Amino acid sequence: MKSHGRKSIQASVTPQDLIAGDQTLAGVWQATVLTLLPDAFPGVLGQSLTGKALKDGLWQLDAVDLRRWGEGRHRNVDDTPAGGGAGMVLRADILAKAIEDTRRPGPLIYLSPRGKPFDQAMARDLALGPGVTLLCGRFEGVDERVIEQYGIKEVSLGDFVLTGGEIAAQALIDATVRLIPRVLGNQASLEEESFSDGLLEHPQYTRPAVWNGREIPEVLLSGHHAKIADWRRAEAERLTKERRPDLWRAYTGRDSDEDQEL
Ligand code: SAH
Repeated sequence: MKSHGRKSIQASVTPQDLIAGDQTLAGVWQATVLTLLPDAFPGVLGQSLTGKALKDGLWQLDAVDLRRWGEGRHRNVDDTPAGGGAGMVLRADILAKAIEDTRRPGPLIYLSPRGKPFDQAMARDLALGPGVTLLCGRFEGVDERVIEQYGIKEVSLGDFVLTGGEIAAQALIDATVRLIPRVLGNQASLEEESFSDGLLEHPQYTRPAVWNGREIPEVLLSGHHAKIADWRRAEAERLTKERRPDLWRAYTGRDSDEDQEL
């Protein structure tokens, strides 16, 4: 029945056991991934906090093999680029069938180096919705007409070229799923981390108090919460200003009334 597997990955014990038929849990955030490499999932998403949350049914993952809609004995899904050139392009008609058959509520995204750069704001928006359907390209990418036909949004992991969309899909899912309530356990850590208030995070330290002749900044050992908060804020501002002038401009622009001295 499922010659070219559909992997519904949800509540279970180990990553491979997470592959469990087509049922979906109502009201649970759902990632549907269209890929030529379904075995790459859940991958790192099956580990640690995201993996535990997957087993606990706080989110669901369905990695669907595009070859299911492939043609002929070899289940072909691609063909040579129109106009010539190296490589192969995923066919619009094949992708359209895959999209029609699998699409669930939530945006449809093609991971692509031409896309809008993925950021924390996108992760937050996605986490608030019902889920996402992700199309992973391979080879030279996908036929442009399928992007137009379905109004697919293109999202990039950054200005570099990956071999396929799978790593990008896992990064997008990881960043999003950790914002779903109860996935991280400690919600407070979300509020302080990088980007949550437009700044990079302050430096972190832990025991031993002295290592290699290097001490933990004294204020952090003072127990004085207000001073610690001030120090962290100042460090976050310093790092953002030094490393990310783009974020710093957005931050100072936004807060210009409060931060006159900046
Ligand atoms: N020829 C294409 C690149 C194809 S790379 C170009 O020059 O734009 C093959 C696939 O990897 C793409 O279809 C896309 O799904 C994925 N990919 C590559 N780089 C990516 C990036 N920076 N972000 C997200 N997906 C990426």
